[in-house]
Amino acid sequence: MIGGVPLSLADFSLDDLEREFSAWGFRPSHAARVLRSHYASGGELADNPTRRFPAGLLEKIRSEFPPLSAPALAARQVADDGTAKLLLRLGDARTVETVLMPDFRPDRAAGCVSSQVGCAMGCDFCATTKTGFERNLTAGEIVAQFLALRREAHAAGRKLQTLVFMGMGEPLLNLDAVLAAVERIADNRLGALGWRQITISTVGIVPGIDTLTATKLNFHLAVSLHAPDDATRAELLPMGKRFPIADILAAADRFQASRGRPVTIQYCLLKGVNDTPVHAHTLAATLGARRMHVNLLRYNPTGLSLRGRTYERSSDETADAFAAILREHKIVAHFRRSRGKDIDAACGQLRERVIAAR
Ligand code: SF4
Repeated sequence: MIGGVPLSLADFSLDDLEREFSAWGFRPSHAARVLRSHYASGGELADNPTRRFPAGLLEKIRSEFPPLSAPALAARQVADDGTAKLLLRLGDARTVETVLMPDFRPDRAAGCVSSQVGCAMGCDFCATTKTGFERNLTAGEIVAQFLALRREAHAAGRKLQTLVFMGMGEPLLNLDAVLAAVERIADNRLGALGWRQITISTVGIVPGIDTLTATKLNFHLAVSLHAPDDATRAELLPMGKRFPIADILAAADRFQASRGRPVTIQYCLLKGVNDTPVHAHTLAATLGARRMHVNLLRYNPTGLSLRGRTYERSSDETADAFAAILREHKIVAHFRRSRGKDIDAACGQLRERVIAAR
């Protein structure tokens, strides 16, 4: 969507496409079938051999939305572990990253989508924020990433099973578009993913978490804490100065109480910065008796940070000791598998490299 003009089918909600079909003189009920087929094929537009679309409908769609207007592949990296990072060029020539991660099951994969071009949050260990914030993505551009990942998964003989909003950008600062995209991706009339297969991740925008809670939609929530106390967090995440951990966790408590399922706490281990036994005990005390799950992330180095620091990955021994302390405190802690170490694995790195090469 540029200047309010739809560029592809991904820009349409089911209701909008039904209205469009009516205006073209076709029955609105064809809209669900067309979108379902479009989503199932990963963004193709083909007739259904068993129940064909009415004469002229596909031609009309093709003439209104030329396929070249969907985001184009600007770069693609595939790691030895099968992780595929795609850089998509949008209609205005800006680029976003989207990632397919193979599951341990040989026929499944998870996707990670971006919600903004760049990011304004300034997390000091993150590559995305180094190129600054450019603009919010539209719902259609988010759905288009999902479709590109589905295609990529099909080509690798896998099914795209889950989707996380953990790519470039802060989803809760582009909430209308993120929710519109999630509603389309999770709509069972369109045969895409179920609600519970979608996770929205935030750096901790308290009013945004409360808005998610109020939606009653049944996705998962992940909160990127990355530090056990406000002072350490403010060093790493400028947003930490605006929203104290206690307020973020209180908002996460409200979300969890409304859904009855654990919120995930994301914690990226950084050598000597937030990974010591003291940090682990402090994190356990901060979380207290909450039934939240801690997802420990292994850092993929991104070079010199905005503040001139160079962060390093914690050693395996340090990471294991950190997890053991959390478990001693009866906290469920998992490691998220580190992906794509032989490519530009960190969020924003591939885009940063392509921009620098121009
Ligand atoms: S970690 Fe996420 S929220 Fe923080 S700067 Fe990077 S993209 Fe933005």
